[in-house]
Amino acid sequence: QVIFIPRETDSGEPRVGGSPDTVKRLKGLGFDVIVEAGAGLGSRIVDADFEAAGAVLGRASDAAKADVVLKVRRPTAAELKGYKPGAAVLAIMDPYGNDAALADMAKAGVTGFAMELMPRITRAQVMDVLSSQANLAGYQAVIDGAAEYDRALPMMMTAAGTVPAAKVFVMGVGVAGLQAIATARRLGAVVTATDVRPAVKEQVQSLGAKFLAVEDEEFKAAETAGGYAKEMSKEYQAKQAALTAEHIAKQDIVITTALIPGRPAPKLISAAMVASMKAGSVIVDLAVERGGNVEGAKAGEVVTTANGVKIVGHLNVPGRVAASASLLYAKNLFAFLETLIDKTGKQLSINRDDDLVKATMLTDGGKVVHPNFAKAAD
Ligand code: NAD
Repeated sequence: QVIFIPRETDSGEPRVGGSPDTVKRLKGLGFDVIVEAGAGLGSRIVDADFEAAGAVLGRASDAAKADVVLKVRRPTAAELKGYKPGAAVLAIMDPYGNDAALADMAKAGVTGFAMELMPRITRAQVMDVLSSQANLAGYQAVIDGAAEYDRALPMMMTAAGTVPAAKVFVMGVGVAGLQAIATARRLGAVVTATDVRPAVKEQVQSLGAKFLAVEDEEFKAAETAGGYAKEMSKEYQAKQAALTAEHIAKQDIVITTALIPGRPAPKLISAAMVASMKAGSVIVDLAVERGGNVEGAKAGEVVTTANGVKIVGHLNVPGRVAASASLLYAKNLFAFLETLIDKTGKQLSINRDDDLVKATMLTDGGKVVHPNFAKAAD
């Protein structure tokens, strides 16, 4: 059977769904692997590296031969026309609010898996694309913030005088926020962080940062069974805003990463808070694609406010460290694909009763089958 790794057609997507390492492993499982020429270039993988790993170089039209397509982004309607009905497609599908696109996938007859719906259980950790990519986004957010900040981050005591350490504040301490804290600490910044989940406090402190939050009764109950944040009450948000307003005015770099599953990103920084910051301060809004944590942030832009604060709103932040992001993403895909394979028959054999399959399978046999999306698509 044939596995196809295409070049992503979205110009904003430098990542790729395979690496020389995963190609070698797929070959080892008995599959033929076709990689579209140039597919890895955005991630610094040249065609010769894929060939050396055992892939055959091909063209977009080779998708028609594939039993499995390994992608980064959901296939477009045009791409789907070239796929074989029954092919399995693994990608970051961005399914919420995209019913028409899901219907297209169903119509094309492909079995589509949304990697971002992978349950966060121990067995699936190696397949967790949200974590692998958010970790790099948190790192890159600090690098982007430091690049826009016209001063050094560590304290430097030199013969010519002392450069003070930068103050970095991280808002939202999930996977991305934790890596942002660690990265800012490595660069020598003085780091504080906030979140609405109490479990985070200890993690923040273990990274050498200071935790700041309104620790009332609501805070103590803010974590869901899945480990995610709840949307907080208006009263809590007001207390939180008062606490952060005072703190933000003294910060040099602020990184925001706050998200609530299935809801727009919470607004944490108002225009008034931005206006209170010193000229030359930088805010990096990692939630900008989900509506943003910062008033005035613009998706895909670096905005400079009237008082000289830069608000960084880069899109696809993991794609800004594409070579690292692709290596980890390819490994996530491989690990999941391995569970869909009958190793003795060396072919795809999807167990539709498996929890991982149930959680991620969007379309199958011409229908949208995922319970969260099936109704909307009818
Ligand atoms: P996320 O991307 O959904 O959200 C980022 C952070 O924003 C979260 O920490 C959240 O609490 C915070 N937030 C939400 N509203 C906020 C507000 N008003 N103010 C401040 N912060 C706010 O989170 P994530 O990175 O996906 O991680 C969520 C949880 O999942 C964490 O507990 C993480 O450790 C856990 N996790 C578990 C596994 C696993 O067990 N396999 C893997 C990855 C992550």
